[in-house]
Amino acid sequence: MDKGHSFKIFIGLVVGTAIGIIFNKLSDQAWVNWTIEYVATPMGVAFLRALMMIVVPLVFASLAVGVRTLGSGQNIGLVFGRLGLFYISTTLVAILIGQVLVNAFQPGAGISEELMNTSRAEMASQVASLVEKSSHVNESLWPGLVSAIIPKNILFSFAGGEMLAVIFVSIIVGLGLLHLNNKASDTFTQVLESISDLSILVVGWIMKFAPYAVAALMVTSISKLGFEIIDNLAKYVLVVCVGYLAQLLITYPLVLKFLLKISPIEFYRKASTAMVTAFSTSSSNATIPTTTKVLEEDFNVSKTITNFSVPLGATVNMDGTALFEMVAAIFVAQVFHVDISLVGYISLILLMLFTSIGVAGVPGGSIPILMSAMAMVGIPPEGIALVIGVDRLLDMGRTTVNVTGDMTAALFVKKYFKRKELSK
Ligand code: ASP
Repeated sequence: MDKGHSFKIFIGLVVGTAIGIIFNKLSDQAWVNWTIEYVATPMGVAFLRALMMIVVPLVFASLAVGVRTLGSGQNIGLVFGRLGLFYISTTLVAILIGQVLVNAFQPGAGISEELMNTSRAEMASQVASLVEKSSHVNESLWPGLVSAIIPKNILFSFAGGEMLAVIFVSIIVGLGLLHLNNKASDTFTQVLESISDLSILVVGWIMKFAPYAVAALMVTSISKLGFEIIDNLAKYVLVVCVGYLAQLLITYPLVLKFLLKISPIEFYRKASTAMVTAFSTSSSNATIPTTTKVLEEDFNVSKTITNFSVPLGATVNMDGTALFEMVAAIFVAQVFHVDISLVGYISLILLMLFTSIGVAGVPGGSIPILMSAMAMVGIPPEGIALVIGVDRLLDMGRTTVNVTGDMTAALFVKKYFKRKELSK
């Protein structure tokens, strides 16, 4: 993506935020609400839907081709195994950062009655439906993951955009093509390659509107934020944001500099377009096309690598989400004076690791799963009422961290697997 365009997208972000803040202050004016509802919202929705429209065909075609190109089954196992280990390591670091910060700053200690009562009253109906949703997740957290991965009906799961199932089917198709290895499978692979190229081409067209769409998305989300974030909640937001910054400014730069030998400044300069898209859409899934394009064009990562690492990363590698989940769960525990034992902490770490894999890469995707994880270790899930009001802002941040982690992982594969099929 050319530098000028990336800069324009960034300007869109700044201008959209400024207008959002002004609109937030003028929210009692009819023309402001009209502009948000009839101008900014449709512009943002159009961009988001256009990106989402590309996701399933792009992921299916590119992942199936990626698995086939990778070659023999052994190779795939090694690459996927090391990539998985990389995902787990960076997610664990994120969870530990969250845990250290939330225990050091204790944002939930000594919470005021006023904040408890207002958030309970204001969020009552929203929380009731979330509790209902999360109890469903709770029943199905483990066997449910199996059903989420293996679809009963391929078409339903594709139509519903169920990413874990789409990934599973794409890998199976890629492996099948590898084993068939005949003329018909070659032709089918070419068709898939063409679908993948076509998707990326269309993404290029969609991204031309990104500066305006990002501005519109920012106007819509910032104008609806509640800026009166008081006492403990302000501390909570700060702890989560410091955690995100630690992951972005310490963990990834260390990995980039010492493991991957890439200048972090250069990395962030090039990664900014995907990061801004993640920030404004709050959706790792919607960012898949942009992440792919940025990695291929700006980081020179081969198609074979982006084909599997981007969809996998966007679906299962969520560092920002895991960090946020840890802070939110312990914040609520502090508020309700729930003592967490050492075993409880270890369970929480494992749960956050496990649940971040199952979180859907959509706005607010982690909330129901987080609530069910909280319930499992005895933290009242209704406590989410305290933090839900500020979640849109934190969602933007965690999605940005999630996508940055995915890009770092793709660069890890580029560096450590110099096989010829990965450099195509
Ligand atoms: N919005 C996040 C993402 O798409 C998921 C979440 O944590 O809610 O990556």
